[in-house]
Amino acid sequence: MTVTETEALKQAEAADKQRQNGNANLLTGIPLAQKDIFTTLGVKTTCGSKMLDNFIAPYNATVIENFNQAGAVMLGKTNMDEFAMGSSNETSFYGAVKNPWDLERVPGGSSGGSAAAVAARLAPAATGTDTGGSIRQPAALCGITGIKPTYGRVSRWGMIAFASSLDQGGPMAQTAEDCALMLDVMAGFDSKDSTSMDRPVDDHTAKLNDNLKGLKIGLPKEYFGEGLDADVEQTVQDALNVYESLGAELVEISLPNSHLAVPVYYVVAPAECSSNLSRFDGVRYGYRCENPTDLTDLYTRSRGEGFGDEVKRRIMIGTYALSAGYYDAYYLKAQQIRRLISNDFTEAFEKVDVIMGPTAPTTAFKLGEKADDPVSMYLSDIYTIAVNLAGLPGMSIPAGQVNGMPVGLQLIGNYWAESRLLNIAHQYQQTTEWHRAIPTNFA
Ligand code: GLN
Repeated sequence: MTVTETEALKQAEAADKQRQNGNANLLTGIPLAQKDIFTTLGVKTTCGSKMLDNFIAPYNATVIENFNQAGAVMLGKTNMDEFAMGSSNETSFYGAVKNPWDLERVPGGSSGGSAAAVAARLAPAATGTDTGGSIRQPAALCGITGIKPTYGRVSRWGMIAFASSLDQGGPMAQTAEDCALMLDVMAGFDSKDSTSMDRPVDDHTAKLNDNLKGLKIGLPKEYFGEGLDADVEQTVQDALNVYESLGAELVEISLPNSHLAVPVYYVVAPAECSSNLSRFDGVRYGYRCENPTDLTDLYTRSRGEGFGDEVKRRIMIGTYALSAGYYDAYYLKAQQIRRLISNDFTEAFEKVDVIMGPTAPTTAFKLGEKADDPVSMYLSDIYTIAVNLAGLPGMSIPAGQVNGMPVGLQLIGNYWAESRLLNIAHQYQQTTEWHRAIPTNFA
């Protein structure tokens, strides 16, 4: 979206000085791409929307501030689905992102720009955000590593809100080790985010080399059923065999309410977004229509012209679900089922240490293939969404290819188990090469 060349060179110079003075740390001078959902002081922050096409943020998101403090260098801002609503990056006002592995295919969404940038080695690492899968699904489709931390681990301050009870920022990189280094910087309590958890931050690299003997891996039978591409399933199975050879034990489990995750999400997320996006009214900042005749005209035309179709669809669904008369039937019911979904995970984690399965049911689909079919698009997050509803950490690592397109293995951990997930991912990456594969056009 934006290349911040001048600022990057300035930050790089400062990093050089720090190195010369001998007080550099691990991220000093490391160039990063930032998803255009994080506000950046003095730099355009669009969130993929015409609504914010002219928005220069007057402050840095906490995540950006943390990277600045750590001496990292911002290369620029990456494209994304409009307000992070999408699974293909096609809803961006600025046009679709292409998958570096096949330019006719989607990179996944909503953090598709970040995933594509890392896959094509335009940046060694990037940030993403994940409300229903937006770090893990594009990581899977582009063959990179990404982790969505436990809800409350990474500050949401300055991360433009989509669905506040689900949104969580996290790193996207080539390896679990790089994600660990980034998470060390991103994670932590922030008094500016009321849902931020006041809890010490793990040293995410400390346990990377622990061995996996006796690790119990739960395989939810619901994640291996109808809808899962047979070749993707085989690839996931091969990855699980690697884990067995590392000393892990595979245990079949059940998450009986899994099939309700997508329907629940498409009540809860639109409800929250309809409230969050009410702030874009053409008055305070962002897009304003020309020559409004009165205040109502200003509101309706600014919003009508500033938002894209998918955003409007979500606002309408959410407003409907929250209306008097429908609230109990939809929103309240969804919240009750949300609890059942998270109880399923709590029960599962009494028996196993980690849950594994596919990140997405297929490899990257063609650009345009699902653009006119929202329901089929929504189903591409069928394995990722429950994790957000429960607030758990989830990860995707490159685990193979089908017809030259990357496949992701999903790892789901218990609350605050980021270090453990990174360890489990790192051990796989010590014995496999999938995370090193580079798309031929960019090798
Ligand atoms: N694809 C899902 C959606 O469209 C999730 C997006 C996200 O995680 N930001 O809402």
